[in-house]
Amino acid sequence: MLFTNLRIEDAETPCDIRVEDGVFTAIEETLTPREGEEVVDWEGRLALPPIIESHVHLDSALTAGDPRWNESGTLFEGIEVWSERKRTLTVEDVKERVHRAVRQQARFGIQYVRTHVDVTDPDLTALTAMLELREELKDAITLQIVAFPQEGIQSFPDGEALMRRAAGMGVDVIGAIPHFEFTREYSVDSLNFACALAQEFDLLVDVHCDEIDDEASRGLETLATRALEMGLRDRVTASHTTATHSYNNAYFTKLLRLLTMSGINFVSNPLVNTHLQGRADTFPKRRGVTRVEELTAAGINVSFGQDDIVDPWNPLGTGNLRDVVFNGLHVTQMMGKEQIDRSYRFITHNAARTLHLDPESYGFGVGRPARFIVLDAPTWYEALSFNAPVLASYRDGRQLVRTQPSTPEILF
Ligand SMILES: [Zn+2]
Repeated sequence: MLFTNLRIEDAETPCDIRVEDGVFTAIEETLTPREGEEVVDWEGRLALPPIIESHVHLDSALTAGDPRWNESGTLFEGIEVWSERKRTLTVEDVKERVHRAVRQQARFGIQYVRTHVDVTDPDLTALTAMLELREELKDAITLQIVAFPQEGIQSFPDGEALMRRAAGMGVDVIGAIPHFEFTREYSVDSLNFACALAQEFDLLVDVHCDEIDDEASRGLETLATRALEMGLRDRVTASHTTATHSYNNAYFTKLLRLLTMSGINFVSNPLVNTHLQGRADTFPKRRGVTRVEELTAAGINVSFGQDDIVDPWNPLGTGNLRDVVFNGLHVTQMMGKEQIDRSYRFITHNAARTLHLDPESYGFGVGRPARFIVLDAPTWYEALSFNAPVLASYRDGRQLVRTQPSTPEILF
């Protein structure tokens, strides 16, 4: 099959792509169709590697308002509401909602998802469902599952045992939530436990780290030190790290050296954190988003995630990572033209590093699996500005999504 006139990422000019048996077999300026070969002319539209969701909670997706709404809009009321909803979970309930949520994500070109699954549940119901879903959905979406202790490891009954059970059941990543633990000592203990467990089971680490406006929340320095000293390095990700927004600059400057040495990844969830953070402030209100520009400038890998799709933490999360990049560039003030032009990388290449994908399995290259999306715009700048729809999503040569572009009539 031959796809012609596609502008790959930030290329100046369009090119042609040949796909055979689900693999890219040629990518050149001009390819001549073979006899009988199916040809699709994309007329200069933008092609990107599949969008990657590097931080979301699919187990809570599509539960907003059930059993009640989060009226204060805080992270902590969200955790209370979810704790009530969690008691009524069934495997069927989780599966039905996740099936709807991943189809929503697919519409927006997503083919890879790292989902955190709450394991502070003695029955591990959501985890059981998600492990089955990872297998059921694998031809359309790659699910990476994090054992996420929403209510703490040291501060939740049998927290360590539940994490160990989850590791044994086949999760991909070990999580933690140090800022939610009862004490600073528990916070450190939970990170030591999580990193040791990941090493024992040869798993990745992704911690909900310092998602609070407390400038004294210092889980990040412990996590980065463990990553460095245990040799886990880029297998470790620090999600949220919103407290860095409130760190004094002298401390952050010192910390940046360790962060660089450690090689860890960061995930920022700017859309949800501008809504959840700063809730204890009067005025001025802090934005509560991690220091994306400073981390990026230091050569540290940062990706962007949605975090929540219509759940107790974000009733308006759509699943569309374009919205997250759009909001994230505004709130981090990364609005230089080059910064905008490169921003698709937060939800593609940077996210691939966060997920620790094999570099030879992702992106455009002869011999790699033919996974890509086509947007209804010639460049990322225009796709982002005008919210261009994803017209097609291909996975190993198979089309997963087909969208008809709509053309509004302006009647003046
Ligand atoms: Zn999260």
